[in-house]
Amino acid sequence: MKFKKQLAGLQAYKPGRTMEEVKKQFGLNQVIKLASNENPLGSSPKVREYLATQSIDFALYPDGYAQTIRDAVAEHLNVKPTQLIFGNGSDEVILLIARALLSPEVNTIAADITFSQYAHNAKIEGADFIAVALNEDGTHDLETMLQKVTDQTAVVWICNPNNPTGSLTPSSAIYSFLQQAPKDVLVVVDEAYFEYVDAEDYINPIQWLEEFPNLLILRTFSKAYGLAAFRIGYGIGSEQVIAQLEPTREPFNNTTLSQDVAQVALQDQQFIAHTVEQNKQEKQRYVAFCEKHGLRYFPTQTNFILIDIEQDSDETFQYLMSKGYIVRSGNALGLPGTLRITIGTPEQNKGLLQELEQLVLKQKV
Ligand SMILES: *Cc1c(COP(=O)(O)O)cnc(C)c1O
Repeated sequence: MKFKKQLAGLQAYKPGRTMEEVKKQFGLNQVIKLASNENPLGSSPKVREYLATQSIDFALYPDGYAQTIRDAVAEHLNVKPTQLIFGNGSDEVILLIARALLSPEVNTIAADITFSQYAHNAKIEGADFIAVALNEDGTHDLETMLQKVTDQTAVVWICNPNNPTGSLTPSSAIYSFLQQAPKDVLVVVDEAYFEYVDAEDYINPIQWLEEFPNLLILRTFSKAYGLAAFRIGYGIGSEQVIAQLEPTREPFNNTTLSQDVAQVALQDQQFIAHTVEQNKQEKQRYVAFCEKHGLRYFPTQTNFILIDIEQDSDETFQYLMSKGYIVRSGNALGLPGTLRITIGTPEQNKGLLQELEQLVLKQKV
């Protein structure tokens, strides 16, 4: 058949091992998943209350324009409802951007190493994907990325903070990049971990949208809001850019339930504050562990941390899994010798670090 030639050799996304699989393989009663940067506290208790009491008409299509959640997010962010596009997770917004702008005639630029979906979608559209090495500290090298921009460049992706390093590229560098980048290049700033950022020099890029209509910001309900199962994320941009992206969106891409639940969760900012506070405390536990054992780590502004464990990533990953902890092996991320660990609850982190300490001490002997 006449499949796109760029699909040859392209693999479907490989999700991590499920908790059930790991339980069965190692005969464990309990498995803790710290691999996908989900919220260890779950989501706002108001979501559960809502789900227990609400009944929706299953036979009806959802609101295709997601009006209620759109208005709620617009008010929360102080932007116009027409400056938002909702996706089935921000993953889908990435797909829509690729569908709307990428083709074999253009190129697109991102960091090497960053969130895998930018490259994946670029390949499907047949666009030339240009990867620019990260700085030593895991931030984006925006000067080199700017040098790579050509007349054929359609989209530049800036993942901030970057997954998997957790590093925050300074706002001043992004602002300067926007000033110098051609106005016909879409600059996407993926802020999936926005809620966790506490750097003093961080500037919320929403305030730059008027000055740079070619800027698009991505946010999600999957991480700090703890609603990954509901698949809801969104883009924030100028009205012109949103209007150009909208026709690529499926008519009913967010379910009724996901729209409702996101709106309930958005109202509970206390839960987000609690999440962020606990994460901040627990991040210190990992930092202290690394300092104690002289392990290199990336300073993180997220709910995960990338640690150079100075050992084979897959072996360490397997060992931790046999003890009931699923993390992300650096080999899967293109960073051999490292582990990416989602920061869990105090109990989870203590347990995991105890196991990791055994390994680190063994290595030192
Ligand atoms: C998790 C993640 C996403 C995807 O989030 P969804 O809204 O669940 O699709 C996008 N970008 C980055 C950097 C992420 O880490």
